[in-house]
This record gives sequence, C-alpha cells and structure tokens, in this order.
Amino acid sequence: MQIPNSRRRFLGLCGAAALAAIPARSFAQAAAAKVDLNDPTAKALGYVENVASLKPGQEAALKTGSHCGNCALYTVAQEAAGHAPCGAFGGKLVAKTGWCRAYSPAAA
Ligand code: SF4
Repeated sequence: MQIPNSRRRFLGLCGAAALAAIPARSFAQAAAAKVDLNDPTAKALGYVENVASLKPGQEAALKTGSHCGNCALYTVAQEAAGHAPCGAFGGKLVAKTGWCRAYSPAAA
C-alpha cells in the first residue's frame, strides 16, 4: 500500500511537532555519555574509573575512602548501572567507583 505524498508530508509534520514538544532535558538525559578518559578535563582532573587503581601516594589529594559514590558532585538520585552524572563534567556519567581531584565529600 502506498501513502500519498500529501499524507506523508502531513505525518512528517506531526512527527516534527511531537519532537518539538519534548523538553530538551529529555534528550540530554538520554544522550548522557560516560566521561572519556582521554577527555582533556578528565586528564586535568586525574579522573579514574576505579579509585583502587591508583597507587599509594600517586594522588596527594586522595583521602582514604573517597570515591565518586560519596562525592557531592555525584548525582546519586540519577545513578544507574554504577554510573551517575557528575557536576564537574557537565553531567556526563562517571563511575561510582571513580575519583578525581575535584572530589568534594558529600554532606553526611
Ligand atoms: S567530582 Fe566527584 S563525582 Fe565527579 S569525577 Fe570527581 S570525584 Fe567523581
């Protein structure tokens, strides 16, 4: 069955209108990507996906027990599969087990 061009155009416009009605925030959440370890900010902040991978003394700022999961910039309410958006990386996903030099302890 063939759809006439006028109907196809109408359906296309309906689709575009429906997409325009979806808040941009929905796309941002859907498009959230993990922080790339080669990202310049990740390198500048010394981000690692697993704090246990750091050697003793490798990071002077690293305090025992600190990791993304207990950092104030880790959006724990949006955590999924061990990752959540981080404020230091513009909302990109970081690993709960990770760490970087911007670590700030979450309020108890
Ligand atoms: S700011 Fe906090 S949550 Fe973000 S990468 Fe650094 S330690 Fe992890």
